[in-house]
Amino acid sequence: MRVGVIGAGMAGLAVARRLQSQGHETVVFEKSVAPGGRVATRRIGPYTFDSGATSITPRGMELEKFINKDLDTSGLIVIDKPVRAHDGVRVLMGGGPSIPMTRYCYAEGNVRLGELLAEGLDVRYQFEVGEIEVPADGGYAVNGESFEALVVAMPAEQARSILESARDPRPLTPVKFRPCLTLLLGFAVAFDPPYHALVETEQAHPLTWISVESSKAPGHRAPEGHSALVVQTGADYSRRRFEATDDLIAQETLAELTRLLGSGFDSPEVCEVKRWRFSLPEATVSFERANPLGTRLLAVGDWILGGRTELAFEAGEVAARRLMET
Ligand SMILES: Cc1cc2nc3c(=O)[nH]c(=O)nc-3n(C[C@H](O)[C@H](O)[C@H](O)COP(=O)(O)OP(=O)(O)OC[C@H]3O[C@@H](n4cnc5c(N)ncnc54)[C@H](O)[C@@H]3O)c2cc1C
Repeated sequence: MRVGVIGAGMAGLAVARRLQSQGHETVVFEKSVAPGGRVATRRIGPYTFDSGATSITPRGMELEKFINKDLDTSGLIVIDKPVRAHDGVRVLMGGGPSIPMTRYCYAEGNVRLGELLAEGLDVRYQFEVGEIEVPADGGYAVNGESFEALVVAMPAEQARSILESARDPRPLTPVKFRPCLTLLLGFAVAFDPPYHALVETEQAHPLTWISVESSKAPGHRAPEGHSALVVQTGADYSRRRFEATDDLIAQETLAELTRLLGSGFDSPEVCEVKRWRFSLPEATVSFERANPLGTRLLAVGDWILGGRTELAFEAGEVAARRLMET
């Protein structure tokens, strides 16, 4: 079977790897310059930030086996510091996620996971698919290239318009993605707290997740005597300020960060605002509902099982199995 996959995020890479390992031919089309999708890394000067998923917690799922057994583990880090909670003013003792789980990241950035998963696959980068052609003699085509099956692997709202181009609309309407404003901050301040991230579980405070990148992957994310932080803002704040200027978002975020961590955090030497329009799904749709039995045009992503790296990967595995059964 010759299968086209649109999107080289976790879901798309999982589909392509599984099919290829079973002897099928796959071509992955990716609009960006790198694989991984929302498992993304941004390098600015001497700093390295995970601008999307800051840690990977596969909880014994298929992705964990891949990470530890099938892929190169040389840059793999098991994060040894815990997550703590904050209330906007103080760091609370305890209060992080109560379920014990192994958290992973990669020394050079979590994009490494996408790079490792993409090894050996035919990925066409900087190739944005605008439409799917449906030739009269069957199958599907992308940019004139024919496939017996096609998998659209991206956020539901983007998948919807591509599916419509194939005149094959799907009931994906319950899935809405929330935006997330993410700040990548580099400070000329040493900071090595007894935690690697702070979470605000009530989603009442604008700063819902603060990842101390330089504490998570010591020696890899910031120069000696410096620190790298990734701050993710909550859904309400992100919606309200999505179109605001970078300066305003930075000013408000740094004021909150300073209130929480102290005065060294009011003047970063690196400050970049990343706008995720589709960060996490607010609802899911079952694989069966999104993909009627018998179709060879599948849609998949983290909106099937939930907005996490390992769940996006798992959804890709489900799609590959379905294609092999069909
Ligand atoms: C800010 C943020 C923080 C997160 N934190 C965590 C975390 O700590 N832990 C965790 O497990 N998960 C986290 N997640 C969620 C996790 O990153 C996602 O659930 C998962 O990566 C989604 O994978 P996917 O394959 O479904 O979609 P995506 O990663 O979005 O992949 C879709 C791919 O399709 C490509 N594409 C889109 N349109 C086209 C087109 N027309 N043509 C070609 N290619 C196209 C995109 O460029 C992208 O590479 C976070 C996400 C965000 C945004």
